[in-house]
Amino acid sequence: MNTNYLMPTKILMGEDCIRSNALELAGLGRKALIVTGKNSAKRNGSLDDVLFSLDKNGQHYALYDQVMSNPTIACVYEGAAVARREQVDFVIGIGGGSAMDAAKVIALLARQDIPREELLSKVHKPDALPLAMVPTTAGTGSEVTPYAILTNDIAQTKTPIGSLALFPRCALLDAGYMAELPPGTTLNTALDALSHAVEGMLSVRANPMTDLLAGESIRQIASCFEVLHLGVLEPQHRRALLYGSVLAGMVIANTGTTAVHSMGHLLTYFRGIAHGGANGLLLPAFIRRVQGGMPERMANIWPLTGFPGIDQFSSALAGLLGEREELSEEEIEKFSAAAIRAKNVRNCPVVLSYEDIAAIYRESFACQDGNLKEIC
Ligand code: FE
Repeated sequence: MNTNYLMPTKILMGEDCIRSNALELAGLGRKALIVTGKNSAKRNGSLDDVLFSLDKNGQHYALYDQVMSNPTIACVYEGAAVARREQVDFVIGIGGGSAMDAAKVIALLARQDIPREELLSKVHKPDALPLAMVPTTAGTGSEVTPYAILTNDIAQTKTPIGSLALFPRCALLDAGYMAELPPGTTLNTALDALSHAVEGMLSVRANPMTDLLAGESIRQIASCFEVLHLGVLEPQHRRALLYGSVLAGMVIANTGTTAVHSMGHLLTYFRGIAHGGANGLLLPAFIRRVQGGMPERMANIWPLTGFPGIDQFSSALAGLLGEREELSEEEIEKFSAAAIRAKNVRNCPVVLSYEDIAAIYRESFACQDGNLKEIC
């Protein structure tokens, strides 16, 4: 039995955790590049807390605050140019998955000259500037993974870069930064984390340790389904979702994701559907396809969700996601042909065919309130 587990990231979680752990940043370098989006880190207080801590440590910083949703290759090269010009020696990512993933690749490009056309197609030396991460959404888990996902306009999807050098040195998690997150963002990110945990349990690389983490993650996130539906979250719900998302990140750091993510990336690239929402849309039909091949694993998952089985789980997700868009047969064929080429399709004991993937897309977009029972 494989029970290997690696987590080199120091995880610090709790109220006011950046200011009270300022010394954690002191050991990372002399001058930081702070990588973030245009607004949220300024609004939610996370940037102020980082700047306060750097100042207290006598550290300098430069700011790159141009990261967009689903960051592009141009964005990370621009950020890396700032890192080199400012001669920073570590990187702090503040934000959701987009900002943290961009920070990781900027840290890599600050240390290595990688031609743009090779960034997403080659394996790179495990050499990057030290990283610290401050997540301001509860979903991606990027603060504890060795992956960064970038928009890939050549392959027309989103493509991961994986390297042990992308494991952050430390992750600073404070659910207080999520207090004002809009309900839609809260829901989408929670579904991303849930999908990480479920996919991790259904991965060929799952083991008893990752199952333990995934199980608790699923339990924490599923306990918030009702408040996610209402869109009104108290601080304890924010803490549960953040805890669930970091646990799920610790899972996929070791197990990887499965077909749900490769299929979801196409929905994000071509249809602009938020990453977590795309995973949430696809997850029930994916489970229906694979559950017969691994009944014991599914039997372990259902009690954690609080639902007796796939029908109730599927209905609950449909209720959370509301009305969904339509996908044409042409799109289904195009997306299925692209998704089947992704490596993580083979990361599940039940390997899906092109026809399986097309059927999952078809079912996922047919599962609306009215026809849920008859199709799903
Ligand atoms: Fe994800």
